[in-house]
Amino acid sequence: MDGSVVKGATPEGPAAVEGAPQGAPEADLTALVAELERIVGENWVYTAEHELRTYESDGLLQYRVIPAAAVLPATAEEVQAVVKACADAGVPWVARGAGSGLSGGALPISDGVLIVVARMKRVLDVDLANQRICVEPGVTNANVSAAVGPAFFYPPDPSSQIVCSIGGNVAENSGGAHCFKYGFTTNYVTGLEVVLPDGELVQIGGMELDHPGYDLLGAFVGSEGTLGVATKVWLRVVPSPETVKTLVAFFDTTRHAGEAVSQIVQAGVVPGAIEMMDEKAIEASEQMAHAGYPAGRGAALLVELDGAERECEARFEEVVGICEACGSDDVRVARDEAERQLFWKTRKAAFPAMGRISPNYFVQDGVIPRTKLPEVLERIEALGKEYGMIVANVFHAGDGNLHPLVCYDGRNEGEAERAEELSGKILDACLDAGGSITGEHGVGVDKKKHMPKMFEEPDLDAFQRLRCAFDPAGLANPGKVMPTPRLCGEVPGPYRQHPLEAAGLAERF
Ligand SMILES: Cc1cc2nc3c(=O)[nH]c(=O)nc-3n(C[C@H](O)[C@H](O)[C@H](O)COP(=O)(O)OP(=O)(O)OC[C@H]3O[C@@H](n4cnc5c(N)ncnc54)[C@H](O)[C@@H]3O)c2cc1C
Repeated sequence: MDGSVVKGATPEGPAAVEGAPQGAPEADLTALVAELERIVGENWVYTAEHELRTYESDGLLQYRVIPAAAVLPATAEEVQAVVKACADAGVPWVARGAGSGLSGGALPISDGVLIVVARMKRVLDVDLANQRICVEPGVTNANVSAAVGPAFFYPPDPSSQIVCSIGGNVAENSGGAHCFKYGFTTNYVTGLEVVLPDGELVQIGGMELDHPGYDLLGAFVGSEGTLGVATKVWLRVVPSPETVKTLVAFFDTTRHAGEAVSQIVQAGVVPGAIEMMDEKAIEASEQMAHAGYPAGRGAALLVELDGAERECEARFEEVVGICEACGSDDVRVARDEAERQLFWKTRKAAFPAMGRISPNYFVQDGVIPRTKLPEVLERIEALGKEYGMIVANVFHAGDGNLHPLVCYDGRNEGEAERAEELSGKILDACLDAGGSITGEHGVGVDKKKHMPKMFEEPDLDAFQRLRCAFDPAGLANPGKVMPTPRLCGEVPGPYRQHPLEAAGLAERF
């Protein structure tokens, strides 16, 4: 079985996965696979290389690993039995939803098991009177809103919402265009059923908004599959707004569009969404969506107001006025739902559309204080020039959540490495501006090397202690998130001699 890390989607890619542990010996794996087949049926366990290729990467195609086996349980009980079997065999595993993650979180482990929850897509309960829905983890984000609509909706809406799973959203604490006004996944998860890494099935929270005791729910949301597998998710949903009004305004520069964002927010308007694309992103998206967006404009700002009709109407005029005052001479208001959908399609097409203008690209994800948008965008542009590479920008402007898309041609020797280096410098620029290395895509395998730039050793030790409390054997998605994997028994912090070593009774190798 080929369990190697493939370096790069095209000839060459970024550095191989460091610290990813190897799994069990071949003999133990054979026995484990037989046990997995007994649990879920042999049709739902894949071990052939051509079947496993489907799962070798997530949306971050630069990293690839073929797992020893992929298993597709259909129920929480099956997940529990699968995790227990892995625990008994000492084999590491990775949970996977739809595999749309962009930080390599669902990257398999060579000689480990990939637990794919995509078959678990039942809507278990819809309780509109109490504004709750309970779903299995494989339900797509879009289908949650569909199940409670049209009267209600589920606000966190990653642009990948038609494919990404709620389990993946929970693990990544996913965001989206509506998060500026409505908040992130963590603000909507009220309960989880989880299979812990030793195979125990537990419930954290439930229907209620809050629970006494430590906030374990908060710890699990955003834990990127390192604390267990979510098998059931209770979510809060909210009433759909009475009215939605959407515009796209075109500007000569992102600086002007950024100024409009600041002024809209300072005026006390809280748009349901406020999204920006720069010239390159407009060019690529237009080729895919054909919305009639003009070529050569520096920025397109999509603003959507939602809420009570009278308030929306009144404040919409204000927003149009601010856009014009900030230099937009082309403000297009969606005349009907079809046109609104076209505006959104163009924005949501931005990532995949980059393939139209570049053979390869890295999607970066950093956050900065909104007021720093102009200076950070200028620094990104300067970095692009320094590296001789195009960097397109698409972002959730209200949240200061940037998605620079670093374009490169992987067929050219060393270009992927240079693109990755440039991506790292963009994150440094975000940190220098007082921001973060990730806004919504998670750390995964891609950004763990950047974690020490944000956190001191004692912070990382605290994270590790929490992780070990859930997963003392270190089998759940090892090699991800944390920059320097440790064994759970190790004393965090700098090396201190063990008393047995001091007494000459034990030796450290
Ligand atoms: C075109 C495109 C646009 C995107 N836009 C956005 C956006 O606007 N906002 C945003 O936040 N993200 C966005 N993403 C990223 C991605 O879609 C999200 O991170 C999403 O939540 C991943 O869900 P998934 O089901 O694909 O998870 P996967 O990629 O399968 O897994 C992601 C992580 O979750 C863990 N995991 C999966 N299921 C479970 C489970 N049941 N229990 C425990 N852990 C689990 C995995 O181990 C992994 O660490 C985008 C991606 C693409 C390709």
